[in-house]
Amino acid sequence: MTSPLALLGGTPAVTDAGPHFTWPPIDDVTRMKVVSQLDSAVSLPGRSGIVADLEDALQDYFDVRHAITTSSGTAALHAGYWAARIRPGNEVIVPAWTFHATASPLFQLGAVPVLCETRPDGNVDPSRVAELITPRTHAIMVTHLWGKPAEMTDLTTLARDRDLALLEDGSHAHGASHGGQKVGTFGLAGAFSLNGPKPLSGGEGGFVLTDDDDTYYRVLTFAHSNKRARNEIPEGHPLARYAVTGAGLKFRIHPLAAALAHDQLSRLNAYLAGREEIAAYLIRELGQVPGLEVSPMPEGVKPSWYALTATYRPDQLGGLPLDRFYAALVAEGATEFDRPGSTRPLNQLPLYQHPSHLFPGYPNIRSRYREGDFPVAEKAHTHTIKLPVWHREQDLKLAEQYVSAARKASEHHKELL
Ligand SMILES: *Cc1c(COP(=O)(O)O)cnc(C)c1O
Repeated sequence: MTSPLALLGGTPAVTDAGPHFTWPPIDDVTRMKVVSQLDSAVSLPGRSGIVADLEDALQDYFDVRHAITTSSGTAALHAGYWAARIRPGNEVIVPAWTFHATASPLFQLGAVPVLCETRPDGNVDPSRVAELITPRTHAIMVTHLWGKPAEMTDLTTLARDRDLALLEDGSHAHGASHGGQKVGTFGLAGAFSLNGPKPLSGGEGGFVLTDDDDTYYRVLTFAHSNKRARNEIPEGHPLARYAVTGAGLKFRIHPLAAALAHDQLSRLNAYLAGREEIAAYLIRELGQVPGLEVSPMPEGVKPSWYALTATYRPDQLGGLPLDRFYAALVAEGATEFDRPGSTRPLNQLPLYQHPSHLFPGYPNIRSRYREGDFPVAEKAHTHTIKLPVWHREQDLKLAEQYVSAARKASEHHKELL
């Protein structure tokens, strides 16, 4: 039996003082790159300097024709939807469980997010997607939740057979791949966030990937009006005459964010390889802890390990509520164990329940979602415990202490009841 629970007066399993996980990793090279950017340019209206460097590097990394940076992932999604010609009244099938910004920009376009039930891992269930297709459906948006690629073979086939645009939100999954192909490159366009904790971070920022020239010009029109649109949209293209105003918005990345993201991109593969090692250890060890269920990754799926998730099984611990188990973990000093907060089933959010309060005249074709509409996603959400995955070898010791904390809480569960 392990030592007494910290929650009940014992010694905590995790001895290091926090924080135990900070992101992105910043060293002197990163600092130098960002500081030297201050001296070269802090505003870049065209595709030049660090913005061009970052977009070139993204194109190489993802092996796509176009990468267009934006001010945020939300902006990338907004621009991506507009570029995919999502019109008022169009339906777009989106996962019921994702960060809301995967779907929320659709309200700005007068389009309708149609929520789709997920699998217990939180990724969209392809067979449920098929059931939701109507003559108004224009696109399918896929999130790769916590960095685990969705079932892209089925989804790609479905989108092709039903003549729908396939779009991806890769914001959890930079560098993750399915069958050797990087996520974000399967469909017409992929949108990514570069926000603070994301696997590839610029602090703030985002980008859109596409192989389609017309989609590229449309993203430029939406996100990069004036100089850049004038320079890059060919004369004679129907959008060229709108270059000065674009569609009325401006979503440029800050050059300092681009400098940070550019530095981080050169390290991304090393981060992912390091995470893979520690994730393998965590899966093996946490998977043996009664009360936690950790699923191995399917063949051919390479995640980004934005988070490692475990499903809490109260039935294996005499019905111990997760709140209590979780409190015991935190008391052990394992403060990076986390329960999903804002990344929750969208049917639980007021925007999805009552969109017309914010968008008068909103076409209420299928909205007015309610709590309980998506039992698989909702149960998965309330039973998920997640952990960020470290990438440095020296963090393995910390990972071991986190495993000890979980073992302790599990072994002593009767004392928590
Ligand atoms: C972070 C995130 C976004 C939004 O990105 P921002 O850069 O914060 O605007 C969208 N979708 C998912 C899945 C995210 O994790």
